[in-house]
Amino acid sequence: LAHGEEAGRRYRLGVMGGTFDPIHHGHLVAASEVGSRFGLDEVVFVPTGVPWQKKDREVSPGEDRYLMTVIATASNPRFTVSRVDIERPGDTYTVDTLKDLCEQRGDVDLFFITGADALAKILTWRGADQLFDLAHFVGVSRPGVELNSPAVAHLPKDKITLMEVPAMAISSTAIRERTRSGEPVWYLVPDGIVQYISKRGLYAPGNDQKSEHD
Ligand code: ATP
Ligand code: MG
Repeated sequence: LAHGEEAGRRYRLGVMGGTFDPIHHGHLVAASEVGSRFGLDEVVFVPTGVPWQKKDREVSPGEDRYLMTVIATASNPRFTVSRVDIERPGDTYTVDTLKDLCEQRGDVDLFFITGADALAKILTWRGADQLFDLAHFVGVSRPGVELNSPAVAHLPKDKITLMEVPAMAISSTAIRERTRSGEPVWYLVPDGIVQYISKRGLYAPGNDQKSEHD
């Protein structure tokens, strides 16, 4: 029996993948809403690895993003954090995340939680053909993004649930930009994250500890 499983009921594990640079209340509300709607036993937050090649921007070190995710989720008994993606070398692909979690957790039902923007790109993800065998996908609404986009219409209906969640007009990009320009991020992220950003000097102009690979 998988951990926490009662007789006749499979353990229901939500998976919330993201860069979490930094984690904010949009992520936390999405995970909480899906957890409640689907009766999830646990939601595991999985910060992505840092791409070896710098893409269009520098991503904060995995260790900082991991710690912020731990800080933000610590008070919720059903929220946990996994290091599978930050410890796997190379780019993060959701198919690898789901396979690794399956291996670690045994016979559990996986529910991958994703915002409407990420869901629309799902068919372009590596291993897209296998994704729907590994998990049920839950696409949550996000302000400014159409939930039921044409791209989503092509995805297998029995493997996807679209769900409205309270609108949180927050993005990590906006948090980084606000920090860079000295605007407040209080109440957009948990208090501990405001303090962590300041303590580590993340997102500050001319900060040279931003990338692991400099
Ligand atoms: P960035 O601006 O750096 O892309 P982000 O705010 O989009 O950051 P990510 O770490 O990219 O955060 O997102 C992780 C997951 O959370 C994605 O599936 C994304 O769609 C979802 N998500 C992020 N913010 C929200 C929000 N405000 N409401 C609903 N879903 C969200
Ligand atoms: Mg994003």
